[in-house]
Amino acid sequence: MPTTQHLQLLAPLSGVLMPLDQVPDPVFSSRLIGDGLCIDPTSQTLCAPMAGVISNLQRSGHAVSITDDRGVQVLMHIGLDTVNLAGKGFTRLVEEGQRVEAGQALIEFDADYLALHARSLLTLMLVVSAEPFSLLTPDTGLVESGQPLLRLNLAEQPANAASAPEGEALFSRQMILSNPNGLHARPAAVFAQAAKGFAASICLHKQQASANAKSLVAIMALQTVQGDALQISAVGEDAELAIKTLAELLAAGCGEAVAAPVVSEPVAVVEAPSLKVLRGVCASPGSAFGRVVQVAEQSLEVAEFGADQAVERRHLERGLFQATQALQGLCDNATGDAQAEIFKAHQQLLEDPSLLEQAYALIAEGKSAAFAWRNSTEATAELFKKLGSALLAERAVDLADVGERVLKLILGVQDSAWVLPEQAILIAEQLTPSQTAGLDTSKVLGFATVGGGATSHVAILARAFGLPAICGLPTQVLSLASGTQVLLDADNGELQLDPDLAVIEQLQAKRQQQRLRHQRELEQAGLAACTRDGHHFEVTANVASLPEVEQAMALGGEGVGLLRSEFLYLERNTAPSHDEQAATYSAIARALGPERNLVVRTLDVGGDKPLTYVPMDSEANPFLGMRGIRLCLERPELLREQFRAILSCAGLARLHIMLPMVSQLSELRQARQMLEEEALALGLKALPKLGIMIEVPAAALMADLFAAEVDFFSIGTNDLTQYTLAMDRDHPRLASQADSLHPAVLRLIASTVKAAHAHGKWVGVCGALASEALAVPLLLGLGVDELSVSVPLIPSIKATIREVDLRECQAIAQQVLSLESAEQVREALHRHQQTAVVSSLVLEN
Ligand code: PEP
Ligand code: MG
Repeated sequence: MPTTQHLQLLAPLSGVLMPLDQVPDPVFSSRLIGDGLCIDPTSQTLCAPMAGVISNLQRSGHAVSITDDRGVQVLMHIGLDTVNLAGKGFTRLVEEGQRVEAGQALIEFDADYLALHARSLLTLMLVVSAEPFSLLTPDTGLVESGQPLLRLNLAEQPANAASAPEGEALFSRQMILSNPNGLHARPAAVFAQAAKGFAASICLHKQQASANAKSLVAIMALQTVQGDALQISAVGEDAELAIKTLAELLAAGCGEAVAAPVVSEPVAVVEAPSLKVLRGVCASPGSAFGRVVQVAEQSLEVAEFGADQAVERRHLERGLFQATQALQGLCDNATGDAQAEIFKAHQQLLEDPSLLEQAYALIAEGKSAAFAWRNSTEATAELFKKLGSALLAERAVDLADVGERVLKLILGVQDSAWVLPEQAILIAEQLTPSQTAGLDTSKVLGFATVGGGATSHVAILARAFGLPAICGLPTQVLSLASGTQVLLDADNGELQLDPDLAVIEQLQAKRQQQRLRHQRELEQAGLAACTRDGHHFEVTANVASLPEVEQAMALGGEGVGLLRSEFLYLERNTAPSHDEQAATYSAIARALGPERNLVVRTLDVGGDKPLTYVPMDSEANPFLGMRGIRLCLERPELLREQFRAILSCAGLARLHIMLPMVSQLSELRQARQMLEEEALALGLKALPKLGIMIEVPAAALMADLFAAEVDFFSIGTNDLTQYTLAMDRDHPRLASQADSLHPAVLRLIASTVKAAHAHGKWVGVCGALASEALAVPLLLGLGVDELSVSVPLIPSIKATIREVDLRECQAIAQQVLSLESAEQVREALHRHQQTAVVSSLVLEN
């Protein structure tokens, strides 16, 4: 008969008790890790709830476990998501393996810092060894640190309760851990819980150390970090299934989002990882063969307290001044507008009143200039990241970059120049715009990063320098040894490790062919885009300024298929006046002339691109909020003013007005009525053509109804893909999946075209898919009448049209509509492309 003993657990903190069910984190509230209690702390020292040994103390200091002599294990976890603070705000007072007394102080934490930087301060005390307990106080209300809280019932284990399973140990392959913070409490709990579902005895191995995979504390004690090579072993009847299941779970991140999982198979032999190709997304096209150079950030030591307030203020002012000058130098030497704009934006950040106010306020509290500046930029960058907008998250990268620039100037730290070998392929968690702009392109052939997106400033700079680059790679890339030979195939978003010579040679030959082809396309840019069987398609340009229109005309553009009018409205403090707008539209229309189409899209801004002079509530999901036509109809004066300005250029070009983000017929009707009223007031006899973007699935699905009331459609595949697949268009990890060639998107395009043609209306595509040569035969085959493309790609898209036969395009379009995935569509289009090139060569000769 087992006898029962008791153990009292003391409150590890003072604070307000809260039942576990109310903790806003399912890992804790579901008791996945263990049952226990939560305290909203009012004290800042975490104390031992019982005597025992510190069985695990997380390096980051946010979680600690104690095991007593009878095997009772209690985990304390300070705050929610505090693992992300990487130790900041925590002071560990004990060591792992140390014996502690009940009530002994274990960890001190800075509640103010945590309150600002973590999701919550709620602190958990969980009985992970799962002894039943009763509460010694009500489960709500105030408790004092050291007050008895729980009474655990310890049933003595009968001898030989569980004997170890027998048999040969099976091992998984080695797997590289992708979780950004290693197996901390949350993923470790998920893993242990899954392991408990098997009878087999299971271990998780990290180098020489191993842990019982069914014990959360043992897993945490392995102190794994991202990039660690792990293996799972199991003995027992269901060992094979256990390894397969757990390996898949580990590869998928144990409930956390991780990049590209690596799935392992159960094998009895230990094998090294056999990674050959790492996949990300193309940030800047091209390819290069070189050697890995891992680059890591310099960490800067900053003293918290300053000398004298006036001195510290001067330090900050000097740092800001020198940074502004350095940025001006970068603007002046920029090779293009895009590059200069980035550093101009950085200069503006340095003048931001709220950043400066925060920094000066901290100096007034006695902090050093460096501390004050770092605090203010980091807090603001964190805020940007939390707002849920991909655009603001990217601005957080810019802010961190300028923040670091000024900090180094305040501290007098020279940028330690990277010692780079020839033919370097840089690998980094994330590069900043400043680092990218400062790259020695005589040595750096390209770069590959884990963070960043195809629309980030770093990607824009890479394109400006013509440096191939991939972003969104799995974190395994950070464990590649410097010096490893790699082939950076940015066009395909692939980093190939130790590639074969034949692969390198093939790629170099392909590059040479591409150069020759590009030269020929430029020479023939002025020719019409007629298919081999004689069908003409209009190739127009996506533009956002007069110089771009001029460049488009020089490259053979046949009109403007999308004028993104936002450029007139963004980054200013007041709305553009009627005269300013009218002058711009007229100059653009004049550059095109009366024979060419000018499609002006009305203002498409909103939550993700806010206007300072249009105050709006912040939105949890800006892409699903007050964007485009919705915003304009809510601010009718803004839209009426824009209509009046656009109408002033009627007659100078073939004017078309296009409404963005339309999802309801009533939006179209309201806008049309306003346009008619404005035209009437201006005494115009003929209305310009009015069309809508098809970029919301609702509009595509109801295209038959819209078609009766519009003059044209233009399909915005960027947003149409985002909304159809429910994938943020700028999400770095989803970039390779958010593919406009997904059959769901293609079916919407097909039905839109059908509906428009049934009403005799034309359909263009102005999303990025139109600029992808691979997609051209498909779009023509689906019946699209016009392709509006990115300016530099006009010659290549025209050349592609000249190479295809419309009947073949129709056949391939029908074929891919019934495929299952974007990958299958890509494969089919690649095959078609190869045969089309061969047949056009045969015809040419
Ligand atoms: C689109 O969504 O495809 C589009 C062309 O509009 P934008 O990229 O400006 O949102
Ligand atoms: Mg759009």
